[in-house]
Amino acid sequence: MSAVTNTAGLPLRAEGIRKAYDKRVVVDVDHVDIAAGHTLALLGPSGAGKSTLLAILGLLERPDAGQVWLDDKPVSTRDAPARMQMAAAFQRPYLFKGTVADNVAYGLKLRRMPAAGRREAVAEALERVGLGGWESNSALTLSGGEAQRVALARALVLKPRVLLLDEPLSSLDPLIKGRLTQDFARIIREESMTTLYVTHDQNEAMAVGDTMIVLREGKAMAHGPVDDVMGLPPNEWTACFLGSEPPLEGVVSASADDLVDIDVSGTVIHTVGVLKPGTRVITGIRPEDVLLFEDDAEIPRTTARNQLAGTVVDIQLWGVMYHLVVDVGGARIASRVSRASVREMQLAHGSHVQVVFKATAVRVRPVEADDT
Ligand code: ATP
Repeated sequence: MSAVTNTAGLPLRAEGIRKAYDKRVVVDVDHVDIAAGHTLALLGPSGAGKSTLLAILGLLERPDAGQVWLDDKPVSTRDAPARMQMAAAFQRPYLFKGTVADNVAYGLKLRRMPAAGRREAVAEALERVGLGGWESNSALTLSGGEAQRVALARALVLKPRVLLLDEPLSSLDPLIKGRLTQDFARIIREESMTTLYVTHDQNEAMAVGDTMIVLREGKAMAHGPVDDVMGLPPNEWTACFLGSEPPLEGVVSASADDLVDIDVSGTVIHTVGVLKPGTRVITGIRPEDVLLFEDDAEIPRTTARNQLAGTVVDIQLWGVMYHLVVDVGGARIASRVSRASVREMQLAHGSHVQVVFKATAVRVRPVEADDT
């Protein structure tokens, strides 16, 4: 096993974190908890307070109120040993003139590691990020993606117990970014470090995160396992930010053999699980899980239990895919459709379609007291 992987992550936790600049509150978060070795994706629009919260959790910035715990011990910006357990990489890699090895070795030099040990550690860290053998390349001639790999190697070489990544890929072009997201996600998973990953890109958050916080104007709008937050956003704002329709409210109308029928204002949606008839529930389906067919199309033999008739009420081009919203008896269900399919089916506002999705794609939870 590599020497880099024997540094187990430490749990990182914070309570009641509040920070204001010029009397304007930019972070006001009750609770953050990253289990040892897990990754928390901190997602939110520009200016939401993500970098400020990262700086507070990373002991780089003092909060006005609240406490951070590392490995269940209270820590602060003055706690040098705790800060030594952490390493960070940022949107701008901040590489200096010199070789790749000089840059990666910088932190080890500050920590007075002997040259021979440094060389071995640098080689190993470069190998981890897919740049094995790049030691003597000039750091200033690297592409954006290569520079970010070097920045990650510079953090990994310190063998931190907590890794802080602040939008490390957001300045890269989409193709490189897609590849690096997968690579970073794999590297983070393979290391056993506790990781805080700031991004405004939900694809990145989904690829890297075990859990996720969605921040809006300093407040946590959603907090939980990535699949839960993405699958069934807890409120309308988060749903909209994540590209879903607001969750639907319904009532369990039948339940047997792990199959549940939910009545959403007269439309029955089938899902899996165990819930008593009469239970009030919140339900939702990710747009990527919803297929559309023309209303007279013969739907191929499929395991998709849900096949509902509806009318397109909204159609927008989002990047390379169309985002369509279909009204199904008053319930709004969104779908992502390729440009070719939209053209082929001549989909437009008012088109009659069939909406098809699997029972397993439907997320459901009982209504809670704080659901409004
Ligand atoms: P982005 O995605 O654009 O980087 P962010 O979610 O990381 O945004 P922050 O950088 O944490 O947001 O900033 C939150 C708010 O706090 C912003 O309005 C920003 O202008 C403000 N802010 C951040 N640092 C300071 C500072 N040192 N002094 C004054 N205001 C600040």
